[in-house]
Amino acid sequence: MEQKLIRRLLTPKREVKVEITLPLDQAGEYVTYVGYRVQHDDSRGPMKGGLRYDSHVNPDEVGALAALMTWKTAVVGLPYGGAKGGVNIDPRQHSRAELQRVTRLFTAELQDFIGPRTDIPAPDMGTNAQTMAWILDEYSKYHGWQPAVITGKPLELGGSYGREAATGRGVMIALSEYLAQKGESLAGKTIAIQGFGNVGTFAALLLQQQGAKIIAVSDVTGGTRNPEGLDIPKLLEHVAATRGVFDFSGGENFPGTELLTSACDVLIPAAMESVINEVNASHIQAKIIVEAANGPVTPEADEILMRRGIELIPDVFANAGGVIVSYFEWTQNIQGYRWTEDEVNTRLLYMMKEAYAALRSDNGAKSLRHAAFRLALRRVAEATLLRS
Ligand code: NAD
Repeated sequence: MEQKLIRRLLTPKREVKVEITLPLDQAGEYVTYVGYRVQHDDSRGPMKGGLRYDSHVNPDEVGALAALMTWKTAVVGLPYGGAKGGVNIDPRQHSRAELQRVTRLFTAELQDFIGPRTDIPAPDMGTNAQTMAWILDEYSKYHGWQPAVITGKPLELGGSYGREAATGRGVMIALSEYLAQKGESLAGKTIAIQGFGNVGTFAALLLQQQGAKIIAVSDVTGGTRNPEGLDIPKLLEHVAATRGVFDFSGGENFPGTELLTSACDVLIPAAMESVINEVNASHIQAKIIVEAANGPVTPEADEILMRRGIELIPDVFANAGGVIVSYFEWTQNIQGYRWTEDEVNTRLLYMMKEAYAALRSDNGAKSLRHAAFRLALRRVAEATLLRS
């Protein structure tokens, strides 16, 4: 690659850091958080990426995730660049009213830097459709009604059918495509999932519907396992009632930290980054890892897994279902027209299959991750050079 290109891609285009001083529900009490938005690259279109609410959010993490979005949108052929944002807040420590205030204060600071043709945020860890609705409402105060400024919105505010399940559905499609190529199927495969939020729950539900056995699940409260397969709809009811998977009557409790080294066919990290690292990579028992979370495997672990012959379906492809359906949502908002759920799911399947075929066609790549990065870099480089 040309020097100029390497320089441009190594450094984000823009980094925004803002102070958010939140008035707490208790009158006269305040706490200050920091909000970030990193816009990595826009050579292929407006930048796109989630907003995360988590106490660990920091500029390095947001920057890395923003770059990952540039590669992800390029791998699946969306007309977008990459961005990411977040606030270093633990949403579980705050009331709904406080979360709304934080979101509005953050949006007011960010509104000059985002927009339907510049940068379009979406949900990520700790944020959801309600958060997106507050962002849309706050942004509209400055710019008028602009539903295409944000995706992952509630249906009533211009959200898309199928968006909530999209990342989990994409994970299911990615694994099923991978298995089909080897002449196998999901039926009877044993699966362990770390994280039971938006991505983990829909992946579990859809994989079970395809005949896979979800034998273990963990979240911040701990783990639950059942070698015969957990009943996912029942587990969802338990989580809705208790806010965690621990103490589920249809499974046996175990320390969540043991999930990653469970004996299973497929391991799906669907919580956070760097959880599979040089400490535990040599103890992984799964034959296949599907990166539903962003960056769950460190580069050191990647090498160990490759040496051990454990196959890996990389995040930039495996969890792209969310950004693909976000793109459909944005498209529908711009058209002022709503697609049916079938239409959304059919197009998602088509785009995931097309991306997988592109990855598989790279005979010179050492791994699917290598193929994905080669494809993404080529696409981003071509767009940058054509514009310069
Ligand atoms: P979420 O907040 O809905 O759920 C996160 C889950 O992880 C929760 O169940 C939480 O309890 C669990 N968790 C957190 N820390 C844990 C730990 N140390 N051990 C076990 N479980 C833990 O978040 P989400 O939207 O499902 O996102 C999960 C991952 O998927 C993130 O890496 C995110 O960047 C990625 N992702 C999300 C989307 C999306 O559309 N939401 C799209 C692409 C990628």
